[in-house]
Amino acid sequence: MTSPDSVKSQLSYPGKSSKKGSGRYLISDLCSDLEDYLKSTQVAEVYRAYLFGAHAHEGQKRISGEPYIFHPIAVARIMCEMRMDYKSIIAALLHDVIEDTPTLKEQLAEDFGDEVANLVDGVSKLTHLDSVSKAEQQAENFRKMLLAMVKDIRVILIKLADRLHNMRTLGAMRADKRRRISKETIEIYAPIANRLGIYNLRHELLDLSIKNAYPMRYRVLKNACKEVVGHRKEIFLTIETAIKDRLKVVEIKAKVKHRRKNIYSIYRKMKEKKINFKELSDVYGVRILCNSVDDCYRILGVMHNLYKPIPGKFKDYLAIPKANGYQSLHTSLFGPHGVPIEVQIRTKSMERVAKSGIAAHWLYKKGDDNSTETAQTRALEWLRGLLEMQQKAGSSLEFLESVKVDLFPDEIYVFTPHGDIKKLPRGATVVDFAYAVHTDIGNTCVAARIERRMSPLSSRLYNGQLVEIITSEQSRPHPSWLNYVITAKARTHIRHFLKSLQQEEAEILGQRLLQQAINQQVGKEYILEPNQVSHVLENYRLNDYQDLLSEIGLGNRNASMVVKALLDDQDGEDVTQLDASGKPLPIKGTEGLVVSYAKCCRPVPGDHIVSHFSQGRGLVVHRYNCKNMYDPQHSNRKQDVQWAEHIEGEFQTGIRVEVNNQRGALARMAATISDMSSNIEQVNQSEKNGLITAIEFIITVRDRIHLARIMKKLRALAAVNKIFRI
Ligand code: MN
Repeated sequence: MTSPDSVKSQLSYPGKSSKKGSGRYLISDLCSDLEDYLKSTQVAEVYRAYLFGAHAHEGQKRISGEPYIFHPIAVARIMCEMRMDYKSIIAALLHDVIEDTPTLKEQLAEDFGDEVANLVDGVSKLTHLDSVSKAEQQAENFRKMLLAMVKDIRVILIKLADRLHNMRTLGAMRADKRRRISKETIEIYAPIANRLGIYNLRHELLDLSIKNAYPMRYRVLKNACKEVVGHRKEIFLTIETAIKDRLKVVEIKAKVKHRRKNIYSIYRKMKEKKINFKELSDVYGVRILCNSVDDCYRILGVMHNLYKPIPGKFKDYLAIPKANGYQSLHTSLFGPHGVPIEVQIRTKSMERVAKSGIAAHWLYKKGDDNSTETAQTRALEWLRGLLEMQQKAGSSLEFLESVKVDLFPDEIYVFTPHGDIKKLPRGATVVDFAYAVHTDIGNTCVAARIERRMSPLSSRLYNGQLVEIITSEQSRPHPSWLNYVITAKARTHIRHFLKSLQQEEAEILGQRLLQQAINQQVGKEYILEPNQVSHVLENYRLNDYQDLLSEIGLGNRNASMVVKALLDDQDGEDVTQLDASGKPLPIKGTEGLVVSYAKCCRPVPGDHIVSHFSQGRGLVVHRYNCKNMYDPQHSNRKQDVQWAEHIEGEFQTGIRVEVNNQRGALARMAATISDMSSNIEQVNQSEKNGLITAIEFIITVRDRIHLARIMKKLRALAAVNKIFRI
């Protein structure tokens, strides 16, 4: 293994001086900057990564015309300024090789280890997302998706550094492209930087965005700021001196820095408050850095003593840190000549967090080579730290929830083929997604293409996937889907569909039956009046017309009887109704209907009867206590029917007779039945033992009374032991 010194001499990177010479930041500059906080062996690794990257990107140029490798070097520099660990620096140098060169992740893993390979792979995935999404419309979801995609927060930091350098070099692009990228930066990347507390980077991203999106406005504002500072230079100097002197008197060691507000926040304030630049008061600010929390509060007292504080402007982010861990005291003062001064007071370590936020937690201590802890546990530590701070502050944990949700969400984000982003809970499947897109899509989905690969409906989805649902008009939700869907929406719709499938079909059928009945009874042109319908609904205790139709379709109501009720034929009761052949109808209200009598119980007029509607057999009439009517498929569709008053014809019914084995018994019974003007349709000998034979007759009778008389006669026969209806 080459020693770092020999690397240095071999490649003879000339150290910090070269920066001034060429005006370009070279790998040698990076290496010498890294030596401030990394071990030489680590710097050597970084250099090796540079060679790898330079080779991979060889011949590629950026739009500006400069060799591509300068971009990754610049990104690594930003990471270096955040004092990131050497693996992040290596990943930054190689961040585009998977996406933009033929290099494979496996190759990186072999050359630089899994950690670096995973980091680069993570950045590539995010870069890939950029090209798929219509991010501007869905900034919030896209932001969450980015964060959800990364298992290692350093991936986000590299991506932010990448974006920052791209923004710095945006000048080479076309104006419309500059504007689009700037908007995306404002909506996606600056908020992420804010969430992670990396204020420096956020400010620069926003400044550059305004500069590129609105170059004219930016120039005007910048000049205006310069002017103000120029005009008030003396006042500012007075203020600064006054503060420093006062701190000396009270013997507090602190650094006083004046700061100018960034153009973006001025721009936003003007826009939000609809004021012009002159009305904008607080362009000037002071930052005081001290050594302890105690000093912070003492300095605050000193400042409020020196200049009068502006009411309502004091904020204590020391006791209650911001969501991203930012801590500071903020106050505003009336300076000399009424010039407002914004003052920030914090410790030096708070300043470090304020500048680099979460990145501050990767600050590398020289000689610390313990890289076994994963980024995940570090990020968790960061969160835990925030939690502790918050608990000390005794305020709500709401802010923590927002950070946690963003960093380790229980949600996944997937793309539709149009680039829309759908948010789903972790573990969601294709069917969940289909219902999230549209209920109809859910109801007719048959499969999906996930990343263009055919996948079954039960496939689990993962962050960033592109999912295309394949539907078929004939397809319907299947009960088995309920086994794997996890969203309430999908579950509800599937259940509802399964239930309403019957309902809907019943309604269609009911409509058809009702129309048929109307056609037959009053003619095709007849139109029902609303009051007719409401009258019937009331009688039947139904909610609406749809219910009535489904009742008919489900067979709970008979269409002809409904029509009769709708027509409210008051004389109907006494009029003998005739069937198609001109005979009186045995069952009331069944004109136009096929009526059949159940073979299980063979009802005859006079029997208490019920019926159900059966497709193909029409209205099927049973005796009231027939056990088949307790069968759920009939009992749900049970409807009461009544025999007509005047019935002609014969009805079949069954009787069972147990007779002693006597010669001629059957003949005598047959003669008796026949004498009673009944026909024997069928005879079965169902059982026989030594003494007794059981015989079943199917006979025709006019009605229940007729049957009762026949049975009485049969019972009177000497051979007959027992007789009963089947
Ligand atoms: Mn890049």
